[in-house]
Amino acid sequence: MTIRYTIVPRNPEAHLFEVTCTVAKPDLAGQRFALPAWIPGSYLVRDFARHVVSIRAESGGREIALAKIDKQTWRAAPSTRPVAVTASVYAWDLSVRGAHLDATHGFLNGTSVFLRVIGREHERCEVEIRRPAGARYREWRVATAMARDGAPAHGFGRYVAADYDELIDHPVEMGTFDLVRFEACRIPHEIAITGHHDADLDRLRRDLARLCQTQMRFWHGSRVGRPGGPKLPFDRYVFLVTAIGEGYGGLEHRASTALLCSRDDLPEAGVAEASESYRTFLGLASHEYFHTWNVKRLKPAAFVPYDLERENYTTLLWAFEGITSYYDDLLLARAGLIAEKDYLEILGRSVTSLLRTPGRHVQTVSDASFDAWIKYYRQDENAPNAQVSYYLKGSLVALALDLTLRGRTRGRRSLDDVMRSLWTRYAAKGIGVPEDAIEAVAEEVAGTSLRAFFDRALRSTREIQLAPLLAEAGLTLRQREAESAADRGGKPAPDGSARMRRVSLGLRTAADPQGVKVTHVIAASAGERAGIAAGDVIVAVDGLRASGATLEPRLARRRPGERVKLHIFRRDELHEIEAELATPVEDTAYIEMDARANAGARLRAAWLKGK
Ligand SMILES: [Zn+2]
Repeated sequence: MTIRYTIVPRNPEAHLFEVTCTVAKPDLAGQRFALPAWIPGSYLVRDFARHVVSIRAESGGREIALAKIDKQTWRAAPSTRPVAVTASVYAWDLSVRGAHLDATHGFLNGTSVFLRVIGREHERCEVEIRRPAGARYREWRVATAMARDGAPAHGFGRYVAADYDELIDHPVEMGTFDLVRFEACRIPHEIAITGHHDADLDRLRRDLARLCQTQMRFWHGSRVGRPGGPKLPFDRYVFLVTAIGEGYGGLEHRASTALLCSRDDLPEAGVAEASESYRTFLGLASHEYFHTWNVKRLKPAAFVPYDLERENYTTLLWAFEGITSYYDDLLLARAGLIAEKDYLEILGRSVTSLLRTPGRHVQTVSDASFDAWIKYYRQDENAPNAQVSYYLKGSLVALALDLTLRGRTRGRRSLDDVMRSLWTRYAAKGIGVPEDAIEAVAEEVAGTSLRAFFDRALRSTREIQLAPLLAEAGLTLRQREAESAADRGGKPAPDGSARMRRVSLGLRTAADPQGVKVTHVIAASAGERAGIAAGDVIVAVDGLRASGATLEPRLARRRPGERVKLHIFRRDELHEIEAELATPVEDTAYIEMDARANAGARLRAAWLKGK
């Protein structure tokens, strides 16, 4: 049996898709239809049904009753004939997780628009994607990894998915995007870029081809893509890129990814070196591509199958997001797309971010995974004090684990082997990864117990001990004070600046027309002791007007232990506060190559070059 869908951008100016779902042999007790509460890969209940503006059911040529039975489910009146439900869905979320439609383009995730026919999730789904009516849409094309079933290449028409799970795992872009094609290990890849941009498309094609090949070889070995070589889990891949003024985000799918980036993150024509912003884009693309294996196929047992009606709990996001975050940049280095020094700078910045998160003393990374739904995805002003990111800490746990495995096996085995072993044992067989399996496989690879390592790294809030592990690779982890609020670490302090005595209030701030807005107050900081709160606007320091440009230099003229007088607005009330300035902590990390360490050179080369 087949479930039939049609989708048409019925009214782009009003941001409305019209979606019809037809069931030939409906449930005789009254067919139920539902929209997902969340989209896999983004662990927050989003209640996509809230964007349904109107909905109706038809059977045998006339309208039948359609009762709403909970926030996301409808039941049609019993019928012995085919039932068709038609919904009008509002699409004005320009993110990788939702749906967006105007007269310039349309983007959709199936979770936003396609009703699930309850009890029929395993049936084949045919989708007719229709062009909007009107001359201005004549040039529109379609980009998606969904298989064509009659539609011309990049055209409107019929597409097909094996089941509902697949249907909602192929986002669709429609409009006048640029299209770039390349092959990696003989697998056709496409990049569809929507939005104004002036990217060097040849460079993008070359770099992504190299990246994709490096990743395929990482998972399947060097014979991948050769005749008789290992089979890849997908036969086509699409990068759906939306370039805007300011933005960053990605969501992984089984044969595609949706990326949102700043247009300036795309490579500039005529510039040979990878700029910092282009490295950010490459890191994002690498992250989502790695997910094609790690989380889309190798996935927690808790996600097999996804329960789309509610939260799905797992303690393993440190691995599925953290290990992915570890390899995203590492594989850029292995692919030769960034230099080793750039990679070490990125690592130094990650360590810096963790050092600036007091929440690492409060929440374990295992708890951070479990509570993603109510914490990571719903961060408030207290988040840095009460939470640790399973991306960030997870990536550094992965680094520590990798270096530990390399150290204990004298360089013979690594985290690469753990990932490939997990792949063979679980993903290749379509089995979900049990909560304790990653640790067990890592211990097998290590040939010794890693209980103490995992208890500390995953289930305690004690610091990860990176310095001794990096030392084995001939690298020195150093810490210093931040130079300024803009200092993200990763590099030594510039010459001559080191001896300036700095002060700290422990505040994170943002520009505000009235002065300086406090966005976060770091736990146990001078600012907290003085009674400054998130949301306060500092309007004067020692009687002089404060602004984003003047606050830091003014404080830099003072010494730890001295007191400053601050005028702040809390809501509309003016307060005068005295704060005692503190000595800043050395929360800025960077990694230096030890010139003498010949012994570490071999381990370092194996790790950074993947040989
Ligand atoms: Zn991710």
